[in-house]
Amino acid sequence: MIDFVQITVILLIFITGLVLGSFFNVVICRVPEKKSIVKPRSSCPSCGAVLMPIDLIPVLSFLLQKGKCRYCKSPISPQYLLVELAAGLMFTAIYLKYGISPEFFFAGYLMSILLIVFFIDLKHMIIPDGLVLVGIAGGLAFFAVRFFYNDSILDGEKWYSPLIGIASVSGFLLLIAVIGMVIYGQDAMGMGDVKIFIPIALFLGFKLSVLTLFLTIFIGGLTGLVLIITKLKKRKSQIPFAPFIVIGTFISLLFGNNIIQWYLGIL
Ligand SMILES: [Zn+2]
Repeated sequence: MIDFVQITVILLIFITGLVLGSFFNVVICRVPEKKSIVKPRSSCPSCGAVLMPIDLIPVLSFLLQKGKCRYCKSPISPQYLLVELAAGLMFTAIYLKYGISPEFFFAGYLMSILLIVFFIDLKHMIIPDGLVLVGIAGGLAFFAVRFFYNDSILDGEKWYSPLIGIASVSGFLLLIAVIGMVIYGQDAMGMGDVKIFIPIALFLGFKLSVLTLFLTIFIGGLTGLVLIITKLKKRKSQIPFAPFIVIGTFISLLFGNNIIQWYLGIL
C-alpha cells in the first residue's frame, strides 16, 4: 500500500533540496570571486538583467526557458540545473537513510558544503577556506550534540573518534603533501584537500573518515586511469581531487557502516 504521508514528506524534502540548490548556485558563483552571497540580487551574467521571481524557480525556470536567458536569449550554464537536482536528490537520499533526526540535519549540512566545494573545485581548482571554516563550525556543533545523543553515524565509537579521524586522515594527507613538496618541490597534494578532511572527520568519526579516504583514492584513481586511457587528460595534467572526496563522503554517509560490516565479515 502506498503511504501518501511518506510520499508527501519525500516530495517536500526533494523540493526543499531544489530550493537550497538554487542558493548553492549563488554561493558557487560568488565565493570564488569574493562577492557577497546576499547582495545584490541575481542577474544574468550576459546581459545583466536582474532576475525576477519567475526566473528563479528551481529546475522549472531552466526547463521552461529551454536553458536560455528570458531577456537576452544567451544560454544558461547547465550547472544551475545540475546543482539543483543534485541537492534535491542528495537530501532525499539522506532522508531515506536517516529519517528526520539529528543525523539528517548534520549530514545534510556537511553535504551541502561539500556539494558547493565539488563545483568550485571542479571549476577553479580551489577549496575556499571560508567553506572549510563553515564546515568545521557545524562539525563542532555535532561534536557537542553527541555528548547527549548517540548517533548512528558514529555507530558506537567513542566521543573522541572524530579527533582521531582528523589526526589520521588529515595527518596522512599532510604527510603526503610535505613529502611531495620535498621530493618534487611542488604542490603534489593541494592543502585544500588536507583541510577539507577536518570537517569531514568531525562529522564522520574515525572509521568512516578512513573509509572515505579509501573510497576517494579508489574512485579518483579509477577515474584518472579512465581519463588517461581515453586521452581526455594527460598524465601530468592536474585533476581536481575534491569531487572524489565529496562522492566518497556521500557513499560513507549512506552505506559506510554497512560496507565496514561487510568487509569485516569476509575477513
Ligand atoms: Zn541575459
